Amino acid sequence: MKKILSVSLLATACAVASIPTWAAGEKIGLLMSDLRLERWQKDRDLFTEAAEKMGAKVYTQSANGDVSTQISQVENMISRGVDVLVIVPENGEVLSNVLDEAKAEGIKVLAYDRLIKFADIDLYVSFDNIRVGEMQAEALLKNKPTGRYFLMGGSPTDNNAKMFRQGQMNVLQPAIDDGQIQIVGDQWAMGWSAEAALNIMENALTANANKIDAVVASNDSTAGGAIQALAAQGLSGDVVISGQDADLAAMRRIVKGTQTMTVYKPIAKLATTSAEMAVKLARGESIQTNGQINNGSKDVDAVLLTPIAVTKGNLDATVIADGFHSKSDIYNP
Ligand code: BGC
Repeated sequence: MKKILSVSLLATACAVASIPTWAAGEKIGLLMSDLRLERWQKDRDLFTEAAEKMGAKVYTQSANGDVSTQISQVENMISRGVDVLVIVPENGEVLSNVLDEAKAEGIKVLAYDRLIKFADIDLYVSFDNIRVGEMQAEALLKNKPTGRYFLMGGSPTDNNAKMFRQGQMNVLQPAIDDGQIQIVGDQWAMGWSAEAALNIMENALTANANKIDAVVASNDSTAGGAIQALAAQGLSGDVVISGQDADLAAMRRIVKGTQTMTVYKPIAKLATTSAEMAVKLARGESIQTNGQINNGSKDVDAVLLTPIAVTKGNLDATVIADGFHSKSDIYNP
């Protein structure tokens, strides 16, 4: 009798295990590079909401700009037994070893927004980042077809920063070759920090006796720092300057006329697509991609979304219409 009971208990346990919902609750480790920047908080919230709607559990950590913190966070997620790691790398070139450990545990890896290089990752979901750089340079050239251009790159450890620059140069190089524009300086803002950009811009203005007509800033935080330096010299509004992310502060500067443009990347699409892909990877289901990118180790399957150039002329029809910011937040701060 005793024996029969234990056999039937075992049978019940097996039956429970075969119910699909038992298998749900995929564990996703979401590792952010730096939650102190406005855009990444949106990414986190939207990703988490979408993944949890699909029945997954999301564990989030932010490295706050520190490479070794991020490596320990990956280790921590491995020991938590996550099924998938979704990573915004702080430095895209130093995760190979720790990701080998993840692979050995059968954990899938999705590079979110920024590519992870020299590592065996499963998927890259981002925007067409070369196009982002092209849009920035196109908008500036349209407003200042001739003059002295300063290049304000993003963080040198972020692969995206290099792709933005590549796109910018695709557009600027012909104008340089024709002698239409001149590059009067080229710097990279460590950690994409506004403060670093402020210092760089101050020095550039001094070195050029304030003779700068355009600043090719790669995102809104660095544009913000640069505009502060321009304003201190009474130049903001005269010098054309690009950005990226459609941060609220940048939208307000665009309305005011101190920033020329930003690039709006519909974060909701990035976050929800990535959440869906992450859950599918965990379930071993097939996923649809639209490209591949070589990360130095392999051709990584990629999903690349389309960015949108935003100026004063189309901000209502883009950023506001999409609900990214409300009209009153932008126009009546
Ligand atoms: C992202 C940008 C962002 C920057 C700083 C880049 O990798 O693509 O949207 O502004 O990082 O966080």
